[in-house]
Formats: sequence, C-alpha cells, structure tokens
Amino acid sequence: MIIAIDGPSGAGKSTLGKMLAKEFGLLYLDTGAMYRAAALAVLRARVPFEDSEKVAEIAANSKIDLTGEPSSMKVLLDGEDISSEIRTPEVATAASVVSAIPAVRRIMVEHQRTIGNSAPNGCVLEGRDIGSVVFPDADIKFFLTATPEARARRRFAEDSAKGLAASYDYTLREINDRDARDVSRPDSPLTIADGATVIDTSGLDLNEVFQTMLENVRTAR
Ligand code: C5P
Repeated sequence: MIIAIDGPSGAGKSTLGKMLAKEFGLLYLDTGAMYRAAALAVLRARVPFEDSEKVAEIAANSKIDLTGEPSSMKVLLDGEDISSEIRTPEVATAASVVSAIPAVRRIMVEHQRTIGNSAPNGCVLEGRDIGSVVFPDADIKFFLTATPEARARRRFAEDSAKGLAASYDYTLREINDRDARDVSRPDSPLTIADGATVIDTSGLDLNEVFQTMLENVRTAR
C-alpha cells in the first residue's frame, strides 16, 4: 500500500504521516528531508545554487539515507547524522531552491520510488509531488493544507522550542517565500494530485485530522 501525503510546509504532513505509518505498519519516507540533505551537501561544498550542473552532481554523489523508526528517524548524509542540521530555516530555503532543479528532482524521485517499492508492507511518503509525480497510482492520496498564518504559528512554535526562530513574522515570510517557489516552479510544482482528498487543518486538532485520514485509508483498503 502506498499512501501519498502532499501539501505546503507546516500543514502537519510529517506528524500525521508518521502516525499513519505507525498505525498500519508501513515505512515512512520524509522526502523533504532528502531535498534538505542534498541542499546541505551543496551548502557545505559552497557551490552557488545557480550552477545547476554542479548542484545536480553533488546530489547524485551524496549518499542520503533515512533510518530508524518514524518517531526517531535519522537522516544520514554520507554516513553522518545530519538530522538536526537540516531543520534550520537556512537549509529549508536552500532545499526549496535546489529542489527546483529538474536533474536534482530526477535523482530524488528515482531514489524515492526504489525505497517505496521495496518496503515490504508499503510506505507513507510525504512531500510536494508524491501523488502527482512520484507515485501517481498511489492507493491513497491526501493533500493537507492550512492558512499561511496557521502554518507559520505551528512552525514558529516548533522552531522556538528548538531555539531557532527569529520571529513569527520572519517565519511567516519564510513559509510564504518557500510556498511561492514550490508552487511556481515548472518541474513538479506543488499541486493537488488527481484523486487526492484535501484536508484543511487550520481549525482542526491533530486527532480530528488523523481520524479523517484513518477513515479514508480504511475505506480504500
Ligand atoms: O517538507 P520540507 O519542508 O522538509 O521540504 C523542504 C523543501 O523541499 C520544500 O520547501 C520543497 O521545496 C522541497 N520538496 C520538494 N518535493 C518534495 C519534498 C520537498 O520539492 N517531494
């Protein structure tokens, strides 16, 4: 079983994706973490993002692995644990720039399909293009969204808890800029995939959204 969860940042995809994976015994794949890892490799190599050939070369030569249980997932770049380092606003912005390069997307999508197809019970994949490009034939597709303000409030609370965020206004701007790039890029823009169930999580608590998703999965199985 393949479950695709797409949507803008801060809509609750990761938390709910992990909950669904746990509930149904599926692998959980955070595809954003893969783009973030590739972006970190590019930042470390000090290659300008405009040099798309070199950026794609770095993405191709980086070994990106996601290991462990969904609740304690580790992201490895060439064997090094970079789980915390990729969660900064700087890396988030870099990921949205790097992910607009078609050659980078090709590498990541291939990797994601291999991981998804080899998961014994199936996989929950979370990202921007899962239902539209990576697994257009996914058994179940969700598109989670929320107002920019609701998403910024959640992200700001998360970042503040980690001692990261500059301010709510900065977080809102960063989210809006990133969404604008994700929606407007020519290759695999953030979009509602055919057949996706759209859930606006703005005024809902986590459990309400989870129950709705559970019902959808149970009906589709
Ligand atoms: O989901 P997350 O915020 O970690 O993703 C970081 C960035 O990676 C996104 O803003 C987006 O530009 C990119 N991304 C993507 N396609 C995916 C997942 C993430 O382009 N499937």
